[in-house]
Amino acid sequence: MEVNVVTKRRINKTFLLFLFLNFLVLFVLWGIYLCFAQIDLKGDRNITLNYKEKYKEKGYNASRFGKSINNEVKVKGKVNSDKLGTYEVVYEVPGLFGKKVVRTIEVVDNEKPNIIIDATKKIYLCPGSKYVKEEVQVRDNYDGDISKKLVIESDDKKVTYSVKDSSGNKTKVVRDIVYEDKTSPVISLNGDRFNYVFLNEGYNDSGAVANDNCEGDISNKIVVSNKVNINSVGSYEVIYTVSDSSGNTASISRTVRVSERNKAGTVYLTFDDGPQWGTTDKILDILKEEGVEATFFVTNKGPDELIKRMYDEGHTVALHTASHNYATVYASVDSYFNDLNSVKARVKRITGYDATIIRFPGGSSNTISRNYSVGIMSTLTKEVVNRGYKYYDWNISSGDAAGGPAPTPTQIKNNVVNALRKDRINMVLMHDIKTYTRDALRDIIRFGKDNGYTFEKITMDTTMVKQRVNN
Ligand SMILES: [Zn+2]
Repeated sequence: MEVNVVTKRRINKTFLLFLFLNFLVLFVLWGIYLCFAQIDLKGDRNITLNYKEKYKEKGYNASRFGKSINNEVKVKGKVNSDKLGTYEVVYEVPGLFGKKVVRTIEVVDNEKPNIIIDATKKIYLCPGSKYVKEEVQVRDNYDGDISKKLVIESDDKKVTYSVKDSSGNKTKVVRDIVYEDKTSPVISLNGDRFNYVFLNEGYNDSGAVANDNCEGDISNKIVVSNKVNINSVGSYEVIYTVSDSSGNTASISRTVRVSERNKAGTVYLTFDDGPQWGTTDKILDILKEEGVEATFFVTNKGPDELIKRMYDEGHTVALHTASHNYATVYASVDSYFNDLNSVKARVKRITGYDATIIRFPGGSSNTISRNYSVGIMSTLTKEVVNRGYKYYDWNISSGDAAGGPAPTPTQIKNNVVNALRKDRINMVLMHDIKTYTRDALRDIIRFGKDNGYTFEKITMDTTMVKQRVNN
């Protein structure tokens, strides 16, 4: 029994020693462990960033023996979210009991490419035709223009557009095909938009042409409504209408004005560049006293009052451009019409009427416009008529605008009366801003009356007097 007891005690002692040593080892290991620095990252260890998405450093907590040692941590590594790839940020406490922790950041492109097409719009094809591949643009946030990667597939019913960017993001657009012509034909006039013809003389309509997207030339399908009565003075519309097989229609019209032929021997007194106090008002007085109507091509200068008077006293208020500045007026077609519209608006404001009779500064034959725009007079002379205006040059110049020494009223009178002819209409160029013209006017009128001429103002029924276009 004794022996057994002793043995038991020895075993117990050995076991306790064993336990003690184990605890000692663990204790020492724990102590060593505590000597190492600890780094806890804030936020995730593995982060996925979208292309161009800014990387935000969330930080860390570093400690040893429970005390913060954040100031000992060295952080290395940069994330460039403008470039796809995997980046590392390393947090390290250096030294024997240091520590190193790595955070991984992956920059990825997960945005789909953009096929620039309206997917909601159906594709309308001409009945019986086949789909022809279009040019379609594709833009990707990362790859840029990847239009060339677009795959277009079609069958009878639909077109499928698909594309994949370099990161494998896919876009697919499907558009349905409808066999239906939804586009109207295009109809256009042969000849001028406005035609001016004489009473009881012939009128030949020059017709129109029509083209359809599906059927081509369908001019033979044009229906013309022509109510021109050559035997009656007035304005008439000729209307051309066309329909394609799918019922899309288009129409266009032409205005034909029938007027009496201007009588040979008629004198049209025309005054440019006004109005102006001291001359225009006196000229209006003389015209009133002599019972003669004339035409004034006005600008934006001078008093409104005189334009009002011209209108009220039965003269034709016509347009000469607002600025009369060649550099502005003849800079371009748009510039011309802007300037013309300005004076047109002025006349409308003062008189309430839409002036459509015009004279080009320098006349249609001027060459000065070439300094500002080559060929502009060729364009303008057609375009003004196209827009419903009539323009008037002259066949008699009073000589009141020439350079050099000022002419006398007698010279002005002689220039005019010596050029008057009975076998044509006489379109006389004068300027109501000149005193010698003002002072010659009564004698010119008296001469005309005494010699069997009649005086008229220009109207839309007056035949255009055109000079040769030189630019
Ligand atoms: Zn002028």
